[in-house]
Amino acid sequence: GVPELPARPIAERRVSRRIQVGPVAVGGGAPVSVQSMTTTRTSDIGATLQQIAELTASGCQIVRVACPTQDDADALATIARKSQIPVIADIHFQPKYVFAAIEAGCAAVRVNPGNIKQFDDRVKEIAQAAQDHGTPIRIGVNAGSLDGRLLKKYGRATPEALVESALWEASLFEEHGFRDIKISVKHNDPVVMIEAYRQLAGQCDYPLHLGVTEAGPAFQGTVKSAVAFGALLSQGIGDTIRVSLSAPPAEEVKVGIQILQSLGLRQRRLEIVSCPSCGRAQVDVYRLADEVTAGLEGMEVPLRVAVMGCVVNGPGEAREADLGVASGNGKGQIFVKGEVIKTVPESRIVETLIEEAMKLADRMEQDGVGP
Ligand code: SF4
Repeated sequence: GVPELPARPIAERRVSRRIQVGPVAVGGGAPVSVQSMTTTRTSDIGATLQQIAELTASGCQIVRVACPTQDDADALATIARKSQIPVIADIHFQPKYVFAAIEAGCAAVRVNPGNIKQFDDRVKEIAQAAQDHGTPIRIGVNAGSLDGRLLKKYGRATPEALVESALWEASLFEEHGFRDIKISVKHNDPVVMIEAYRQLAGQCDYPLHLGVTEAGPAFQGTVKSAVAFGALLSQGIGDTIRVSLSAPPAEEVKVGIQILQSLGLRQRRLEIVSCPSCGRAQVDVYRLADEVTAGLEGMEVPLRVAVMGCVVNGPGEAREADLGVASGNGKGQIFVKGEVIKTVPESRIVETLIEEAMKLADRMEQDGVGP
């Protein structure tokens, strides 16, 4: 049948306060959102908006832009106004850009307490400006730029050090009555990162932005992020996620969405259930799975398509899915909603599956299933 959100979620979500990043609610039981960061020079407004449009199309809900120079700060107002999704300005080193970003109408500002030196003296003014504009602040602690004092105290970026840095910074804002905060404590080692977020989750009620920093190239970064986010989200920890990959940002979004779908935290869309193939396979399962995936790319409805190599598990899986094929003897039995509707030669399996998938999708859309 139609895979819906499981009746029982994977875990009770941790109770966190809610902040608004533009129209996107973060925390307080809001759906876990997916974000990414542009790789363009922010001062290049055209290129940045173009990349934001691509990210939006890939399903990104919040986008962050770096702001290392005055030219970048000057570009923020136009970018924030023209972007289809809320824009967070990412500020290291310069408190003056925090004010610029707030005034530019950014949906939030990320600050790194380890990198903004004269920050502590100016928290009062920042809290005031953020309060006046309704702009939340992300306190983004990063293992690579941990506050010198804490590095000395702990010797390295331990979970305790990351958490202490974040909560210390939050306490400076709290002194001025400002609590419109979300927090991240990123580390490149999922083991340290998971422990840091667990500790942080127990010590505050701020919404948490999950990230494994410098996670690496696509394959390694995907696995690290999936493992780390999976461990935390399956305990109800995490309100918004960013997968960091040394790859185009739209890839990060795809991975992020897939992680949420895998955990049942977001409605599944197209799902290909394909077997790994083995010595019993009577068709080329990899090719079939790839061709079916390519042919159905972009499908918006929650359709489960089984592509199975032989009759051992084939009929069972194909029957459980909305649509499937169990192959054998150069032929494929095509199942729709549990019934064999036809048997086709191997050369026609892919086109038949795609055809039937389109029909099912049309029906589902008419019935109002989907986004
Ligand atoms: Fe092997 Fe058949 Fe299972 Fe595929 S479905 S892994 S071919 S036994």
